[in-house]
Amino acid sequence: MGYTLKILKIDLSSGVCAREEIPEKISTDYVGGRGLGVKYLYDNLPQGVDPLSPANKLVLATGPLAGTGALSSSRWMAVSKSPLTQTIFRSVGGADFGAWLKWAGLDAIVIEGKAAGPVYLYIEKDRCEIREAGDLRGKGTEETQVHLRDRHGDGARIACIGPAGENLVRYAAIFSGPNCAGRGGLGAVMGSKNCKAVVVKANRQSSIARPQELKEIIKEHLAFTKAAPAFVRFSTFGPTGNAENCNVHGIFPTRNFREGSLEGWENFRASEYAKLREKDMTCYGCPIHCGKRRVVKTGLYAGVAADGPDYESIWAFTGPIASTDIGATIAGNALCDDLGIDTVTMGNAIGFAYELFEKGILTTKDTGGRSLTYGDHQTMIDLIKMVGRREGLGNILAEGVREAARIIGKGSEAYAVHMKGLEPPAYDPRGAKANGLAFATSNMGANHNIGYCKQEIFNIPDPRPVNRYADGGFADVVMFNQDETAMYEVGIACLFPALLGMMSHSLFLRMMSAVTGVSEFGDKKYLFKVGERIYNLERLFNIREGLTRKDDGYPPRLANEPLRNAGPSEGQLIRRQEETLDEYYQVRGWDLNGVPTPEKLRELGL
Ligand code: SF4
Repeated sequence: MGYTLKILKIDLSSGVCAREEIPEKISTDYVGGRGLGVKYLYDNLPQGVDPLSPANKLVLATGPLAGTGALSSSRWMAVSKSPLTQTIFRSVGGADFGAWLKWAGLDAIVIEGKAAGPVYLYIEKDRCEIREAGDLRGKGTEETQVHLRDRHGDGARIACIGPAGENLVRYAAIFSGPNCAGRGGLGAVMGSKNCKAVVVKANRQSSIARPQELKEIIKEHLAFTKAAPAFVRFSTFGPTGNAENCNVHGIFPTRNFREGSLEGWENFRASEYAKLREKDMTCYGCPIHCGKRRVVKTGLYAGVAADGPDYESIWAFTGPIASTDIGATIAGNALCDDLGIDTVTMGNAIGFAYELFEKGILTTKDTGGRSLTYGDHQTMIDLIKMVGRREGLGNILAEGVREAARIIGKGSEAYAVHMKGLEPPAYDPRGAKANGLAFATSNMGANHNIGYCKQEIFNIPDPRPVNRYADGGFADVVMFNQDETAMYEVGIACLFPALLGMMSHSLFLRMMSAVTGVSEFGDKKYLFKVGERIYNLERLFNIREGLTRKDDGYPPRLANEPLRNAGPSEGQLIRRQEETLDEYYQVRGWDLNGVPTPEKLRELGL
């Protein structure tokens, strides 16, 4: 129950679609969502595969809770080998595609091979068709979805890529509704297969082991959510409030991670965004409606509308180029959504280019005559368009910061801020060091939502408080956060309520047990162990790809340049890197090279 135990495999080279049973042992040990995707790829992806080749596989998965009415838990996930990091990668989307996938009788679909020309997939309960999509080529993500909804009716939900995915921008995203599986370039993997979209048509239905019990839990969960201190603020403002929090704490990365706050940040605080709100948006079965559609009212960008921005996107189009123009931020967000680009890597790539221009490494010859001057948001908008179309400098920035630095050379590597090839999100690790260790040791590079340290960012002392400036002593908390995230992502539950006290372990576990009828899924120890198993299997995937201890390092800037203009975080540096890593490996049960020991593998049944 809760499961369909079915996976649909689509080989775009041969045109063959086949439904396969998922062995019960896999669903017991890996449950669903992230666990299912990672296990499938570990077992079926050849070592060393080029992420943009037909041999790579793209998994779109959902979890047991999707479409059952369980609150905030109908997310879907793309899992693949990333063209940006060359590691295993998972990226999570919201809206309602996860519920639709489940209702179509599937726990996951796997797309492999490459179609001869642009296609989209049409999936119904007992149907899978590969359809011609030449007319969708070059269309933005919203237009693509409107077009396919018109063609297939209201009962259809769509996941698609934009022009950036078609052009193999290495940080292209996959969109469904206004929501996206943003990070890691899995939209480029979809584009490399000539797959423009996946359309799922289904009727509402669910199979729940103990429906009455689930109903009671949902009632309790709703009351719990609404009573949470964060509920009113988060449902009113969404994640925009974090801009103030991070600037005040001096961890708002500014001018390519040189400074920890941006002068004039008050211009883009939550109350300013609230003035532009047009309507609320929510994901399937979520009472929080943290999404907001906003419209710019005045200035150069008047009339531009975006579904967002969330905190990371607010940062991406302010801090890196030192602009406080709220209209430009919304315009940058809207453009990335339309082109199908991850805003976080986009902001980093632009901030990197601005610094290289300042240093004279890039000149007007490289930029098509443009000056990249801090505060100039119009050039930022130009660069986003150039990346989406892979034009001029945009063609280099479309490779991501690590590869762009290699191509540009001239010492630009010193300014390239990334971990395992993934550019960091909107938290400077020098002033939030447990987050820094989570980024450094993440199986997917500097990804904030793979082990978000709420203990630092929101002062939530669960399982214990953390001193954000300590040079170590928090490895156990980092491991807890990483395994807890993997646990929630078998559901697939949204991390916002989990981080902000609107979801508890107990509620999640009880929902998992009531939906599936598997009593072990109601046991915290059991599901945390599943989370740890997934994390270790991802690590094994990366080790097989040749990653080593040195890939768990920090960019030189964070260890060598004290954080400036950072209030309480002024002067902070990453120190004792090696000792902190040793401590983390030890807590994890890994050897000094970061390889899980035989005892740990045995314990996890790997
Ligand atoms: S909290 Fe926000 S992102 Fe998460 S499920 Fe609810 S509406 Fe979607």
